[in-house]
Amino acid sequence: MKKQTRIETTCVQGGYTPGNGEPRQIPIVQSTTFKYNTSEDMGKLFDLEASGYFYSRLQNPTCDTVAARICALEGGSAAMLTSSGQAANFFAVFNIASAGDHIVSSSAIYGGTYNLFAVTMKRMGIDFTFVSPDATREELEAAMRPNTKAVFGETIANPALSVLDIELFASVAHEHGVPFIIDNTFATPINCRPIEWGADIVTHSTTKYMDGHGSAVGGCIVDSGKFDWAASGKFPGLCTPDESYHGVNYIERFGKEGAFITKATAQLMRDFGCTQSPQSAFLLGLGLESLHLRMKRHCENALAIARHLAKHPKIAWVRYPDLEGDKYYELAKKYLPNGSSGVVSFGVCGGRAGAERFMKCLKLGAIETHVADARTCCLHPASATHRQMNDEELIAAGVLPDLVRYSCGIENVDDLIEDIDEALAEV
Ligand SMILES: *Cc1c(COP(=O)(O)O)cnc(C)c1O
Repeated sequence: MKKQTRIETTCVQGGYTPGNGEPRQIPIVQSTTFKYNTSEDMGKLFDLEASGYFYSRLQNPTCDTVAARICALEGGSAAMLTSSGQAANFFAVFNIASAGDHIVSSSAIYGGTYNLFAVTMKRMGIDFTFVSPDATREELEAAMRPNTKAVFGETIANPALSVLDIELFASVAHEHGVPFIIDNTFATPINCRPIEWGADIVTHSTTKYMDGHGSAVGGCIVDSGKFDWAASGKFPGLCTPDESYHGVNYIERFGKEGAFITKATAQLMRDFGCTQSPQSAFLLGLGLESLHLRMKRHCENALAIARHLAKHPKIAWVRYPDLEGDKYYELAKKYLPNGSSGVVSFGVCGGRAGAERFMKCLKLGAIETHVADARTCCLHPASATHRQMNDEELIAAGVLPDLVRYSCGIENVDDLIEDIDEALAEV
């Protein structure tokens, strides 16, 4: 067995150990296809009897190597990269839910995920019940139905910055024989490893901190390998023969550790093709090498800025889970003891207009539909990512109309504070 390294070492070297004379850096295998000597060799791959590559829509060595690094960071058993975070969340849910099924989700989730669930997947016949991220055990219980197939939430919600009680959500899911799926994009495995708290499937938009440099859109799904898919009888897709894939029974062939990711690859990647390019996976691998250093700096900058804003007369309110007195301070201390993320949200005096004026006057902080980047950026969600929601839905998602989402980069924090003060002087 390979020695388990500490997380910083896993960031730099996880998933890839070159042999004698092999490239030190992860090679980019920029090839759509792979050559075999006989049709029989190829046939074994199609039957999932041998492991190997045949077509990069399903699997590619560069993508698999980088997925293995993220898998090690999260402490999972198997992982796959996807073309985006949206694809990761779609696959994670659709891999185990079909028309007629139901999912319980926290209402405080990324706007794109909310739309995917409430509109697009609803059109596919999957029903969602949205519950408060602060739901009690009783409220969660009440949302569960016999056809519920999973519970979903975000470790730190984007952009609401609510911190989820992971143990509570996971335990209600488990009592009903279904997995808890968690989007860990904002925390990253540096600040929280949800599997250690009972989560079964972890998803990521790697577009954010993992890549960290705003260079490649991507996603990832990690399986804990711990969920017993056979116990409840609720997951026939994993536990009975897949007629679309030569009658393979995923749980029998690949066990608890491999069934979920193998099914998602063999069925969903095959049919939807939401694959990440090897070039993007390479950039993601580079980003991961400094994730532990960057997260520390993002969090230090964010805490200093949150404290500064909290004292500023032109700031109506500040939300940052690590800020003393924040609604989620206790949960953050429990689940995110090393810091939450670099994202701070706040209201500028003067409401929507004040927020817009402030953002326009920033020079270092750029207005972007992006977050969790080395460069500081900011966004007004009510007029961008969440603009499809009405006011009621906005408030349920924890997004006030005057909310500015400020994503602290890794620049010098004094420069960022001066930039903020100069912009606030114009409001
Ligand atoms: C950005 C984001 C997504 C979507 O990811 P893309 O890579 O943009 O598709 C999903 N979840 C969270 C929490 C995000 O921040």
